[in-house]
Amino acid sequence: RDTQDVVRWRTDFPILESHVHERPLVYLDNAATTQKPYDVIEAEARYYRHDNANVHRGVHTLSQRATEDYEAARGKVQRFINAASPSEIIFLRGTTEAINLVAQSYGRSRLREGDEIVISAMEHHSNIVPWQMLCQQTGVRLKVIPINDAGEIQLDAYQRLLGPRTRLVAVSHVSNALGTVNPVQTMIELAHEIDVPVLLDGAQAIAHVPVDVQALDCDFYAFSGHKIYGPMGIGVLYGKTELLNTMPPYQGGGDMIRSVTFEHTEYNVLPFKFEAGTPNVAGAVGLGAALDYVGNIGMETIMAHEQNVLEHATSLVSSIPGIRLIGTAREKTGILSFVMHEAHAHDVGTILDRQGIAIRSGHHCAMPIMDRYGVPATARASFALYNTRFEAELLAAGLEKVIELFNG
Ligand code: PMP
Repeated sequence: RDTQDVVRWRTDFPILESHVHERPLVYLDNAATTQKPYDVIEAEARYYRHDNANVHRGVHTLSQRATEDYEAARGKVQRFINAASPSEIIFLRGTTEAINLVAQSYGRSRLREGDEIVISAMEHHSNIVPWQMLCQQTGVRLKVIPINDAGEIQLDAYQRLLGPRTRLVAVSHVSNALGTVNPVQTMIELAHEIDVPVLLDGAQAIAHVPVDVQALDCDFYAFSGHKIYGPMGIGVLYGKTELLNTMPPYQGGGDMIRSVTFEHTEYNVLPFKFEAGTPNVAGAVGLGAALDYVGNIGMETIMAHEQNVLEHATSLVSSIPGIRLIGTAREKTGILSFVMHEAHAHDVGTILDRQGIAIRSGHHCAMPIMDRYGVPATARASFALYNTRFEAELLAAGLEKVIELFNG
């Protein structure tokens, strides 16, 4: 049965009280974005009510307060992922912008024609396309690690791809289309043996598994605030100081400079060198509140709960005739991707929506993985800390209804 804990957590999220098509909302689209607790909504509102001003520039009180709020949020991110210093935390719009920054700043300044970047077959488009753009600009080549039928990276093939021309490995920590948790620790160790840095796309990991960038020893880590109960439009690039210091700025503008003349500009120190223009201060404040919220519950507790819901949902859904699960890795987070013999994923999504159940259907911005499994799209239910075993049962009942409708 569902625990008192999850019943209590649910009351922290106002949107979970809503109804859709006159049914209580069952929100199972958390891999696309998570809902926000009062703490986050209030933190952002409080910032705008009491502290709003531009940061880093003014001597007046509000500007100083806004700067303190913004830098305090950076400190919260640093502690949450255990970075060595707050200056290794760069606030950006999200995972997408973080990966583009590394591709354009690190990639363009360091990589030459014939160099190789290794990604995996399960990447989100935002960890494919920025590298393809770099390939077009520089003649760098992309190498793709294959996966097995369960949706797991093939480590032996990965090892064979690492070679004298490899300059960077960029892989997802957790796959958004399959839920696979990748063996990133081993992958990083193997890359470091030949001095190749590793970027982790942490968009799907940050809210579901503990992330310690120093223990992982990853060189870059990218994530989005909105996937961990924080606001949209704020995200983070973590990078090791020694790497970030050698990289040129990504964008030019205010705040990223120390001095400017028409002949010459001296760039600011980290992290400001990579934060051109007025930042999303309210977003950073909201993200800080989200990390506090998650930290108070504890990642171990969240993981245990989400695994419990995932196991229940997996056994219920996989026993429905005509359903094929896509992604059955041993190490998974709360993502259940499947196709139905009777119905296209979009029909499944539409029929479930009539019952108040929100899932995603489509290619999940990972079209190559759809090709890998020979399907045009999947239906995907994805869980967060506020989802219940009861909701997993509603999902299964909803899917039975889909079958009835199509067979009826
Ligand atoms: N990588 C993965 C694995 C994702 O799931 C997502 C979001 N669906 C992204 C990158 C991109 O994140 P954003 O759109 O927040 O930049």
